[in-house]
Amino acid sequence: MRGTATVVGGGIGGLTAANYLIRAGWEVRVHERADTLPDTGTALGLWPQALAALDAIGLGDRVRELGVSQSSGALLRSDGTAIARVTVRGGSTTLLSRPALLTTLAAPLGPGVLRYDTTGDRCGDGADVVIAADGINSRIRDAVLGERYRPRPLGMAAWRGWVSGTADSSAETWGDGALFGISPRDGGLTNFFAAVRVEPDAVDGGAAFLRERFGGWHSEVRTILDRLDPATLLHHDLYESPPLPSYVRGNVALIGDAAHAMAPNLGRGACEAMIDAVALGRALTESADVPEALRRYDRCRRRPTRALVRASRTMGRVATTTRLTPLRDVAIGLVTRLG
Ligand SMILES: Cc1cc2nc3c(=O)[nH]c(=O)nc-3n(C[C@H](O)[C@H](O)[C@H](O)COP(=O)(O)OP(=O)(O)OC[C@H]3O[C@@H](n4cnc5c(N)ncnc54)[C@H](O)[C@@H]3O)c2cc1C
Repeated sequence: MRGTATVVGGGIGGLTAANYLIRAGWEVRVHERADTLPDTGTALGLWPQALAALDAIGLGDRVRELGVSQSSGALLRSDGTAIARVTVRGGSTTLLSRPALLTTLAAPLGPGVLRYDTTGDRCGDGADVVIAADGINSRIRDAVLGERYRPRPLGMAAWRGWVSGTADSSAETWGDGALFGISPRDGGLTNFFAAVRVEPDAVDGGAAFLRERFGGWHSEVRTILDRLDPATLLHHDLYESPPLPSYVRGNVALIGDAAHAMAPNLGRGACEAMIDAVALGRALTESADVPEALRRYDRCRRRPTRALVRASRTMGRVATTTRLTPLRDVAIGLVTRLG
């Protein structure tokens, strides 16, 4: 089938969907609230399945070329001793900054497709299908399913940023009620992220808090904290979506964080947004009509993404537990050794 699509949200999922449909001969408009592409941002880890989704829109090799590939990483204790070594199954992850990924996704779109500074909130512009790719605070989700499906706080706050110089490898350190991740990324930079168990709005987001909270951790963490530029630090509370009764309603399909915002602990949110976009694109191009395509998309994506929301929450809790940490470390070591 060919037709017309309005995509609300020119983020990772929205731009992937637009690429897929345009390549299949669809007429697409993307409404993006921001007035331009971002020029700074932290890195995303793209897993093999997400790279396969990028291959489906002809951009996988470009992303592999721009990013930094990692096939393994270390899990450490706060004193720097190893809990386990983790190997990526089925290939490697590619670490690439969000701005570089968005620029790559936007490049193939023809003139007039991506419209900045437009919200697309009144999205009944006659398109055959409306793709709600407007992120965690999706207004389209509110409109079609109701505000009771808004994401809920996870009781964790996160910080993200970068410093100059490239880390040799990826490592995540788990300590008492907190974690700190370090990874190489494109542009000769090192990406870092931290998460701490706290109630929403309970801490200020400043570098001083991080330096105090992680000041007793091993030297690689302290080096990052010494070098970080507070002006580039991103801080926010973490949320996850409740189970939605459906990812589709009428001619609207929800993708990415609009459908299944998840804790960042498995590094899968952006990956799943791209996988959704390609699954929806396939369903739309291969089905006889829009209702059949949207049913097929919902059937194929709702269950696996719900499982990932739960698994990401569990991983966040395990990583930041304050109890039985020696037992946890033995169990994690065994699980990773046994594959
Ligand atoms: C600390 C942290 C670390 C993470 N690390 C990783 C990682 O390593 N790997 C990974 O895969 N994922 C990671 N994620 C998750 C990832 O960032 C998100 O899951 C991903 O960006 C979701 O993509 P999306 O397209 O659904 O939404 P977004 O990328 O958020 O895009 C939504 C777009 O919609 C626009 N928009 C919003 N409202 C409107 C409107 N009304 N009209 C028009 N436009 C609108 C926004 O401006 C935005 O451009 C991480 C998240 C966090 C918090």
